[in-house]
Amino acid sequence: MDLKSFIRDIPDFPKPGIIFKDVTPLLKNPEAFKGSIAELKKAASEWNFDIIVAPEARGFIFAAPLALEMNKGFVPIRKPGKLPYKTISKSYSLEYGNATLEMHIDAIEKGSRVLILDDVLATGGTIKAIAEMIEEAGGEVVGIITIIELSFLEPRKKLDKYRVEALIKY
Ligand code: IMP
Repeated sequence: MDLKSFIRDIPDFPKPGIIFKDVTPLLKNPEAFKGSIAELKKAASEWNFDIIVAPEARGFIFAAPLALEMNKGFVPIRKPGKLPYKTISKSYSLEYGNATLEMHIDAIEKGSRVLILDDVLATGGTIKAIAEMIEEAGGEVVGIITIIELSFLEPRKKLDKYRVEALIKY
């Protein structure tokens, strides 16, 4: 399925000069949405993992159906102050600005094998911060998978010790 045809370019969002890749047309089309989950499943079935970790908000949209489809658990990564229990947090720099993410301190058991999922891999900062939190908790990152990779931002340079898959590359 040509998933790329369901991704819309939004120029100058959220700042002038940035072309934002918008996945909402893909989500709105049931065949494309289903197709994206099927392709994620196909790629992820090569990896031996226990749990899927994904950041809000768009990571959740793809991670929840994939977790159910593959009979895995799901761990949410959230912006500061949203998770109710004790958290680990990590600050990092983004394509546009700085950010902090949090994960529940007991979300990842020691030795658990983790798949990280998000909608867009841009500079790689978000996923690197998530990988570091997982490793601090004693988990092992077995793979990273995204719908879209902005290859021209060279995110794999930051993630060179991990296996990275993306369904659509720019
Ligand atoms: P990174 O940390 O620079 O890799 O940015 C990735 C994060 O920012 C992901 O959580 C994405 O959801 C979001 N992001 C960055 N660029 C885009 C885009 O063009 N479209 C949608 N989300 C984006």
